[in-house]
Amino acid sequence: MASPRDRAPVAELVEELLATDGPLPIIAAGDPVLRRGADRFDGQLGPALLSRFVEALRVTMRAAPGVGLAAPQVGVELRIAVIEDPAPVPEEVRLARGRVPQPFRVLINPSYEPVGTARVAFFEGCLSVPGWQAVVARPAQVRLTGEDEQGRALDEQFTGWPARIVQHETDHLDGTLYLDRAELRSLSSNEAMAARWTQPTSEEAARELGFGLPG
Ligand code: ZN
Repeated sequence: MASPRDRAPVAELVEELLATDGPLPIIAAGDPVLRRGADRFDGQLGPALLSRFVEALRVTMRAAPGVGLAAPQVGVELRIAVIEDPAPVPEEVRLARGRVPQPFRVLINPSYEPVGTARVAFFEGCLSVPGWQAVVARPAQVRLTGEDEQGRALDEQFTGWPARIVQHETDHLDGTLYLDRAELRSLSSNEAMAARWTQPTSEEAARELGFGLPG
């Protein structure tokens, strides 16, 4: 039986999205497209269209601005994501969070597994959940496998903030939002974040808001 996706091939959808220049609209939480889980990329977009789509993801991520963007966030149900973090943060934040610059990367069909048992908990946000941030405990180090945009195999370990970014984006491709993994008592508006929770670590927020931290 034909599924709705068969009747509207994803390549046509991407062509439609790319018909307008500039950043793509980002889909907010509540849309089932963020919850279905994306299809494995298997050439549904030809090389030229994939390249144009990846460029649109990059433009959209930078304009937001964000440090990662997954295809379902623009309504495309393929396992494709981009990441990039110039990491413009103070030295003490860089040290505490391991927030080192992450060059632009394309992740195709990524999946990750924890390396070791260490977990770290920091505030993170999502372009699909604008205005809010929450603390998420995640594995400190992960092994990421998948492919790059040329189809070359990817098998790499990520630590620090880049490890958090690749987990967050890969989760999107599985229909998982960071809030599913968050300490909900930490949920803070951007205004509260700016006023109260700019410390390099989450300890003060944990104490004041009443949530636990790993280890
Ligand atoms: Zn997100």
